[in-house]
Amino acid sequence: MTELTAQTGTRTYGLFVDGQWEPAGSGRTFPVTDPATGATVAFVADAGADDARRAIEAAYRAFPAWSRTPAVDRSRILRHVAALMRERKEPLARQLTREGGKPIREARGEIEYAAGFLDWFAGEAERVYGDIIPHWTFGKRHLVLKQPIGVVAAITPWNFPAAMVTRKVAPALAAGCTVVLKPAEQTPLTALALAELFAQAGLPPGVLNIVPTSDPRPVGEEMLHNELVRKITFTGSTEVGKYLMREAAGQVKRVSLELGGHAPVIIFDDADLDKAVAGTLASKFRNMGQTCVCANRIYVQRGILDAFAQRFAEAVRSLKVGHGLEEDVQVGPLIDAAGLEKVKSHVDDAVAKGARVLTGGHVITGDGFSGGCWYAPTVLVDMHDEMRIMKEETFGPVAPIIAFDTEAEAYRRANDSRYGLAAYVFTENINRALRAAERLEYGIVGVNEGLPSTPQVPFGGFKESGIGREGGPYGIHEFLEVKMVGLAIDETVPGE
Ligand code: ADP
Repeated sequence: MTELTAQTGTRTYGLFVDGQWEPAGSGRTFPVTDPATGATVAFVADAGADDARRAIEAAYRAFPAWSRTPAVDRSRILRHVAALMRERKEPLARQLTREGGKPIREARGEIEYAAGFLDWFAGEAERVYGDIIPHWTFGKRHLVLKQPIGVVAAITPWNFPAAMVTRKVAPALAAGCTVVLKPAEQTPLTALALAELFAQAGLPPGVLNIVPTSDPRPVGEEMLHNELVRKITFTGSTEVGKYLMREAAGQVKRVSLELGGHAPVIIFDDADLDKAVAGTLASKFRNMGQTCVCANRIYVQRGILDAFAQRFAEAVRSLKVGHGLEEDVQVGPLIDAAGLEKVKSHVDDAVAKGARVLTGGHVITGDGFSGGCWYAPTVLVDMHDEMRIMKEETFGPVAPIIAFDTEAEAYRRANDSRYGLAAYVFTENINRALRAAERLEYGIVGVNEGLPSTPQVPFGGFKESGIGREGGPYGIHEFLEVKMVGLAIDETVPGE
């Protein structure tokens, strides 16, 4: 990445527009901090609406040539970037941990997951088939073509600084679209590092542009109101997603939204408790509970409630908390003070309404924890539905355990949410597993596993969790228009 200026001993990174690293038009920069310590990691050029406009125009200029580039050549570049990511896995993972706080082992896993989207969509680029539909009338033919939508504006969150970028950029580029990406203000460095790898792999200027900003509103407004942008793809909060959808309606821009979740876990009395404890732990505590598919409500059938709660609390107590760059750390800091405040308020509200704390339940301070936002991994029992944590996304390391009696009750309570992203079921009974998978109103159901997502399957939600699907064979269709070509032909063969 091109370094622009030296500022208080840390590096300053530019915007990536039209294949160039450049300062923001305003000349302003903003700091990126390590959430574990509060220390400044780097400074980044702070894009405004004018910078976003330049990036959109560059993407628009690059579109005709890129969309007509043979799919096999587009694929080659995506595969090359995936290979470069794997080659640089360690420095990329360390940078990701430094800006996002995620434990280093998870960061390495994320780099691999993110590279997987490039591999997968490199393959999909070559399989954008059209159709020929049989005609009803003599002298007619009907063709269906799939064509790239055009310039895509992508907005990504801080909790997966690499994977949310490639999950959007890989299918967009594979389809033949060009992209302007605005990474989250907390974690722009990974996105910028990926842009450098794309350039190194030979991506033409303007095909991918990155415009980090400390204030998402002006850049977002430009993306929403600039007529050159045909599609908004967003991962983030339901609140911002609704705003983007409302504003995109002005020009009927296409939208794909991956929004909040409130994942239920259902553990039936026939579950294998080892699998249930391990799977729930993985789902709940990955990235400190800061993912939209993290377990939020853990429903346990009454007969195994005490056994599960005890074993689960024991496992949670043994989680190692610390700076993500320490090799064996499993739980790092929360992203910022607002995140910590939300977690604290959810636990305090639940306790005030009768919840019992089995472990955790407090902020962590003291040696090694100053400067960052830390909350102890927490298990709560004696929950009831009036507690905020039962309805609102906590986005933190807090596991509420709730008793249930019948299977019907479990589905009814699990589905009682405005969200519908991920749900998890633990049972050794195949009938129950299938009934649960079909009854749960969620876009993703993990059966006996806590981490079901991978690049080759669809990811997305029901209800207020979003619109559209990313990943898998479905992901590329979010970036394609369907065109019908009606052909009138003369069927007479001369000489016949
Ligand atoms: P979170 O609460 O997880 O940070 P947000 O929805 O606020 O979720 O953020 C997700 C992404 O959306 C980030 O890149 C953020 O900068 C961006 N964002 C937030 N508000 C707006 C907005 N008004 N316009 C465009 N992007 C926005």
